[in-house]
Amino acid sequence: MLKVENLHVSVEGREILKGVDLTINPGEFHVVMGPNGSGKSTLALTIAGHPKYRVTDGRITFEGEEIHEFSPDERARKGILLAFQVPPEVEGVKIIEFLQQVLVELKGMDPVEAYDLVVEKASELWFREEDLHRYVNVGFSGGERKRLELLQALLIEPKLLILDEPDSGVDVDSLSIISTKIEELHKRGTAILLITHYGRILGHLNREQLTVHVMKDGRIVKTGSGELVDRIDKEGFARLFEEVGA
Ligand code: ADP
Ligand code: MG
Ligand code: MG
Repeated sequence: MLKVENLHVSVEGREILKGVDLTINPGEFHVVMGPNGSGKSTLALTIAGHPKYRVTDGRITFEGEEIHEFSPDERARKGILLAFQVPPEVEGVKIIEFLQQVLVELKGMDPVEAYDLVVEKASELWFREEDLHRYVNVGFSGGERKRLELLQALLIEPKLLILDEPDSGVDVDSLSIISTKIEELHKRGTAILLITHYGRILGHLNREQLTVHVMKDGRIVKTGSGELVDRIDKEGFARLFEEVGA
């Protein structure tokens, strides 16, 4: 479904990704780990089409189509959704209106039906109806922001959901509901690309069904199965990097 080949990406003239290869088939669950600054968010933002991230070599195809020329909006319509590491505040845009609009535009839903669905799904992520009349992320805690990202994903049910550190800056209760909802989306058939530093967000997910990629300095230096997550939790990256000569 998603094929990233020899991807090189520059930001403001500096090369950040230095040849990344990654294939994700429908419904698969991939995890990306790596030290800060290794290029994880750059990979996520480039797939989602952030204009600041310039592809200088290689390519990204989604369902057989090269998506290089597609705007973030077109990529979203094709089924790619990115949940941001740092979800932005959008002053003046109410959550309910934004999500209603998304469902009307993306799913062709009736606005009243969309409203009810947003309220229903929001309650599963602990948002009350009155919370939905606040502006997107304005004055929100870390946990609320990340839960709101998950709410978007639950409503849209993308083909590919990219989650950039959905566990960073959240309280333990939010962590557990976010983890549950990621698993739920995965079970319903969404392919997941999850960037994280910790195995905890994976909850009880069967490690055997995960593919784990470890990044260092703009490259994937190791790909393996789920037990890599627990190993990295325990040992950190240094020994692994030494082993693979990275
Ligand atoms: P990670 O998510 O693994 O922590 P990032 O992809 O955020 O890594 O960053 C990789 C490198 O690219 C870092 O050195 C970072 O400073 C740089 N970088 C990322 N985004 C930008 C940007 N918008 N402007 C300038 N430098 C950036
Ligand atoms: Mg980081
Ligand atoms: Mg990052």
